[in-house]
Amino acid sequence: MGGMKASTGLSRLSTALIVLDRDSPRSHKQAVAFPASTEEVSRIVRAAAAHRTPIVPFGAGTSLEGHVAALRGGICLDMSRMNKVLEVNPEDMDCWVQAGVTRKQLDEHLRDTGLASGTAAVRYGTMKDNVRSLTVVLPDGSVTRTGRRVRKSSAGYDLTALFVGSEGTLGVITEVSLRLFGVPEAAAAAVCTFPDMKSAVDTATLVMQSGIPVARIELMDELQADAINKYSHTQLALAPTLFFEFHGSPAAVKEAAEAAGAIAADLGGADFQWADKEEERRKLWSARHSAYYAARALRPGGNGLITDVCVPLSRLTECVLEAQRLCKAHGLLAPLVGHVGDSNFHMLLIIDPTNAEELARAHRAVDDLVHLAQDVGGTCTGEHGIGHGKLCHLEREHGLPALQAMHGIKQALDPFNIMNPGKLGSDPAGFAAAAHIDDVVA
Ligand SMILES: Cc1cc2nc3c(=O)[nH]c(=O)nc-3n(C[C@H](O)[C@H](O)[C@H](O)COP(=O)(O)OP(=O)(O)OC[C@H]3O[C@@H](n4cnc5c(N)ncnc54)[C@H](O)[C@@H]3O)c2cc1C
Repeated sequence: MGGMKASTGLSRLSTALIVLDRDSPRSHKQAVAFPASTEEVSRIVRAAAAHRTPIVPFGAGTSLEGHVAALRGGICLDMSRMNKVLEVNPEDMDCWVQAGVTRKQLDEHLRDTGLASGTAAVRYGTMKDNVRSLTVVLPDGSVTRTGRRVRKSSAGYDLTALFVGSEGTLGVITEVSLRLFGVPEAAAAAVCTFPDMKSAVDTATLVMQSGIPVARIELMDELQADAINKYSHTQLALAPTLFFEFHGSPAAVKEAAEAAGAIAADLGGADFQWADKEEERRKLWSARHSAYYAARALRPGGNGLITDVCVPLSRLTECVLEAQRLCKAHGLLAPLVGHVGDSNFHMLLIIDPTNAEELARAHRAVDDLVHLAQDVGGTCTGEHGIGHGKLCHLEREHGLPALQAMHGIKQALDPFNIMNPGKLGSDPAGFAAAAHIDDVVA
């Protein structure tokens, strides 16, 4: 990197640049940069383009499918210093933030405004639905703004949606305009247990089909409930469980909760256990959010191979039951959690990553789950994304012409293939051969 800094003027940036490995066998250069502004990102990308050096943007680094693995080395662009809330517009109910701002940071910033950023996708939509506009550094270093700060626009291709789902393969997002929501007048959360998974998932499905306005419905099986009890010192019953949350006016919350409660009771659910106070709700959701770590703690030394699929609502129950059966058939410890209001569920395969045979079994289980979802019209991932791990499933889901169209977009925007190469938008001819990520990084 030293030569590159000198020849491009990068040394004048405030950006911290850490060279990790000058002589990596599989890459030209390996370094991490910590830019603080769009302008700095632009200068780094411009320099990388001149040297044909790959750039891999890095957010919080969750990277569930090997998204941020630098398959061809290059510069990792760590966005954590781009953590400023740039403006809040209460009248328009939106804000501008730098791309490294976390949800918690934003909610802390909004604390006294009566506004919040949405996290319950059933009611408020997914991230894609909540992004209005972006500032993006394109692969040649130029800067563009997508969309406008409005609720709707019919003006041209939807570049905002294209970049939000592009996993760092088309450009670097540096700033984001997000929708905000009024903090609801009332909110209540409830837990309901069921005698079996079928009645729990049927309840979630029927609540959604009845149009009852829920903010969240989350599912967990008894194995996950046991894991959470042990990890978070809660006293959840060891049974398939639904977590509900309702938002609105006090009357609307009461009405929705009664309607959902009646469906649950009809299908064998126990009485709702209520958490009305904010502190109680926070405790409940914090236990739910620790699900992954709790699941890992079930097997000391174990690691989690998490996978998620999303299916049509009418097929949710059969898919959840079949997913559990499949994991059992593969001999895997696999708690299940689901954002069932969105027909999206996760299997947390808790494995010994040093055991090659077990790892292979886990990958076969993931393949089976993906095929199960795709065969009923669902998708290989509802929220984790493709990264490298699920590239091999894309052709079965979308067909070759769609993948060629994605490759065409990638080539048009990133002709030197410097943005997160080897991932989305790659030549589909190589997809079938795409190995699982552990093979790549081993
Ligand atoms: C325990 C657990 C629970 C989860 N629960 C949920 C959930 O409830 N709902 C949900 O939707 N998801 C959930 N996820 C998935 C999680 O939300 C995503 O994996 C995470 O948000 C990805 O963000 P990140 O910042 O970690 O991205 P990273 O892993 O850092 O990056 C992901 C991809 O985005 C690219 N990228 C990152 N920053 C930029 C940028 N500024 N510009 C361009 N490209 C960029 C990277 O190159 C990479 O390809 C969960 C994950 C875990 C581990």
